[in-house]
Amino acid sequence: MSTLSTAQVSARRESVVAALTSPDLAAIVDLVVWVEVDDGRSSDGGRAAMAASHIGRVRLHQDGRHEVLEGLDPIASEDPMAFLPYDLECASPGPLTSSDNSYPYAASRILSLFADPTRSPDVAVMHTPRHFFPEEGGHTGEHGSLDVIQSRAPLLLSGKGVASRGIVDAHARLVDVGPTLAALAGVPDDALHDAVGDPLDGAALTAYLDGKSSAKPKVIGILWDGAHCGDMLHLAETGELPGIARLIDNGVALRGGGVAQFPSVTLTNHTSILTGMGPGRHGVLGNVFYDRATGERVVSNNASTWHRSAEWLRPAVRTVFEMVNSVVPQVDSPRTACVNEAVDRGADYSTMARIRDSGSTSGAAGLDDQLPDAHTSVHLHDTTHLDDSYYSWGTQVDDLGLEQMRELWASPESAPTLTWWSCVVSDAGHHAGGPRSDIARDSLRDSDSRLVSFLEHLDGLGITDQVTFLLTADHGFEGSDAAVIGSWGPALEALGFPLRDEGPGFIYLLPDD
Ligand SMILES: [Zn+2]
Repeated sequence: MSTLSTAQVSARRESVVAALTSPDLAAIVDLVVWVEVDDGRSSDGGRAAMAASHIGRVRLHQDGRHEVLEGLDPIASEDPMAFLPYDLECASPGPLTSSDNSYPYAASRILSLFADPTRSPDVAVMHTPRHFFPEEGGHTGEHGSLDVIQSRAPLLLSGKGVASRGIVDAHARLVDVGPTLAALAGVPDDALHDAVGDPLDGAALTAYLDGKSSAKPKVIGILWDGAHCGDMLHLAETGELPGIARLIDNGVALRGGGVAQFPSVTLTNHTSILTGMGPGRHGVLGNVFYDRATGERVVSNNASTWHRSAEWLRPAVRTVFEMVNSVVPQVDSPRTACVNEAVDRGADYSTMARIRDSGSTSGAAGLDDQLPDAHTSVHLHDTTHLDDSYYSWGTQVDDLGLEQMRELWASPESAPTLTWWSCVVSDAGHHAGGPRSDIARDSLRDSDSRLVSFLEHLDGLGITDQVTFLLTADHGFEGSDAAVIGSWGPALEALGFPLRDEGPGFIYLLPDD
């Protein structure tokens, strides 16, 4: 098989960019991004992030400069606090063009996506916020974009060692979550990173700690998959999420949340959260990606593959579980626990390990008959949501997650130093109806009910004030518009050279035969 020369890759990439930035596709293509090898004029390490749309093209330098090469700058803003306060987002959902939108940390997030030696695409395409593409797996509510709302996940810290500040006008990045959890659990600063280190890696959010306590707390990280930052805080402030409100009362929530890595999809960000690295270092580039080295199409975010997540981690990776285990003495009970989470390597207790040990050849997908009955869930606010099969399954899985949490925290003595608790029904609710819909809000209420139940369990043990909590999500959500339809597939097919479009949105140029 022949390989493409550098010149051929450049020329074909130009053709792809030209085809996708045609005004004909402006309603569905928001941005096209790639990385260009710099000709040595800048100090950006030889690589520059590029972005284009039908309005123009820009080279993004790591020092923050935007070098507009054609037309207008398609990345008009990188403000991570855009569309705040929340009323602004509600008043103008789904910006029509990239000039009205914001793309936080655009250069560093694009550079990370394109930093893997064999799995990075040649070009990535982003849907406009309103694009509705059910024929390619799209939903009423969607995420995946570089834009601020799809990239904005809630981030709050609470409990022992956290300064009580309520909701603050600030933001962080999801790569900061892992280092924060590890630092809280006692991992020293110099052990938070591998030998290589990288300026794009995350850092512990020590600014929100009160610095008073020297005794190491027990740490619980909670992820509500796809929970919408703005709406979650809004519901908490209006008394609808008492569990979240209680955590905020005893800590701090960031109005601008945590900025996801790009693409703002599930497995990429679960992995970034639990390793403190962007996709270019941890290797899980998307929910679906292609590896040129093996010729394999990797589907990482699937019930049949979650338990295999460790197979795709690159050598630089240390999970937060491995970091914490390296400093906590081995005892009989688990030092680290990982509930209902794919990215579990190194955890002493892990749901995925139970799935691996079960011998199920299709992973979690083969074990549905062992889940509790969704109809009997005491946390469900509206049984009609069970008509949505993803919501129904999420209800079962989250009820089983709460059960595991209670077992792991049966007594203060046996409780893990670090517990990670991933919940999924919020993703189902937001996909089904988009942010602010009844089903999305009920998915937050259901999740909050489970949180309240667990906090009451800790109250019963008398240890709630000895625990530090961090609650986050892996991405945000925007609502699509059923009238904005279409596909960029035909434009790519018309180019007449071989390529793969995985996701869709990751375009890999292929040799001619
Ligand atoms: Zn997700």
